[in-house]
Amino acid sequence: MTAMTDLGAKALTDLVNDLQRQYKLISGNRLSLDLSRGKPAADQLALSEDIESTINDNFRAEDGSDARNYGGLRGVSEARELGAEILGVPASQVLAGGNSSLSLMHLVISTALNKGLWQDERNWSAGGEPSIITPVPGYDRHFTLSEALGIAMITIPMDDQGPDLESLWSLVEDKPDIKGIWCVPKYSNPTGCIYSNAVVEGLAQTPNKAAADDFVVLWDNAYAVHDLTFPPQKLASIYEASLKYGTEDHIVQFTSTSKITFAGAGVAFLASGSRVLDALEAELAYQTIGPDKVNQLRHARYLRGRIEPHMRAHAELLKPKFNIVLETLEAELAELGIAEWTRPSGGYFVSVDVTPGLATKVIELARDVGLSLTPAGATFPYGNDPLDRNVRIAPTFAGLDELSESMQVLTLCIKLATAQSLIGNI
Ligand code: PLP
Repeated sequence: MTAMTDLGAKALTDLVNDLQRQYKLISGNRLSLDLSRGKPAADQLALSEDIESTINDNFRAEDGSDARNYGGLRGVSEARELGAEILGVPASQVLAGGNSSLSLMHLVISTALNKGLWQDERNWSAGGEPSIITPVPGYDRHFTLSEALGIAMITIPMDDQGPDLESLWSLVEDKPDIKGIWCVPKYSNPTGCIYSNAVVEGLAQTPNKAAADDFVVLWDNAYAVHDLTFPPQKLASIYEASLKYGTEDHIVQFTSTSKITFAGAGVAFLASGSRVLDALEAELAYQTIGPDKVNQLRHARYLRGRIEPHMRAHAELLKPKFNIVLETLEAELAELGIAEWTRPSGGYFVSVDVTPGLATKVIELARDVGLSLTPAGATFPYGNDPLDRNVRIAPTFAGLDELSESMQVLTLCIKLATAQSLIGNI
């Protein structure tokens, strides 16, 4: 096959005609396909069904307290130990919360803005207009959360090693209004990359380099154990690095069991230095008299010491799905040279970059024949992908047949949009 850009006018016209014919054919099929859902499928949820049996009338936590009652804002100790196992930090640094790490992120940002994270005079609203660094492409809910809380976003590029440190440091070194950075360090959403050791080390020192004395690294390790290959690729410990640089009170880590057990009924965790935990606990006390500790007990009893076999079972279900996505992209697009994509070894997404200017068109073409994709621009702050080229694929929820069909439709739409635009340029 020849690269599409090397085709002459006649060959390109023939190709467009052929692709249009194929597109018309599938448009008659009234498809209802969806590659936008970054959530576990029913067979993944079923892997954790036995979690219900762990309570078995025993509501006593290891410290003797009754998990059914009020109290314990930092969570039961065995749940904190589970969070410590996932994040690779001491349990004393962990707060176990409700079912959503996103709500813990909201807690951290709103506390940082209003009261400050260290129970001293510092808070993000004290100076000018606070802003935050967002490596792109990134996770849309980080962007919407920042926007909802009135924090401006400044993008920096990501590559397969993580965020670009030179860009980061040149921004934070002389701008005291820049208060933090969002990071998804392992199997990043959406690129799937794992931050390199040098990037983890560089991020751990960033609070010392920043002009702001209240700079925070928001370390959203949502995919900490979500490996597809074993032994898994390791993420360096930002906790260890922060001890070296004395920045542990400026790193806040998050994770949850949303994609380990149940996305709507898991346990979320946060880890940071003791001053930050004190400040957050004080703030939490206004919101709740204690988390759902029964669910925390369920999770601790079910998962502690057996996370890897459990995640291997997830991987068995997910690997065939990622293979369908990657094999179809390879077979349909590689030789045409019209798109680039990531090949993650874990996480929930594959990120595809089409020819600049065409992502919106591809997503519209797909929608018009019944394939839903994450909206164009969603992986950028304010929904604005300046090059209009990123398409996020979420392969986990669809069944294998739906996924194969969806990938045929998606690659056809990419080919058609690209060929049409090339013809327009002749
Ligand atoms: N962080 C990232 C990077 C995610 O991709 C997701 C869900 O897709 C979440 C957080 C949501 O986590 P939770 O269910 O714990 O709120």
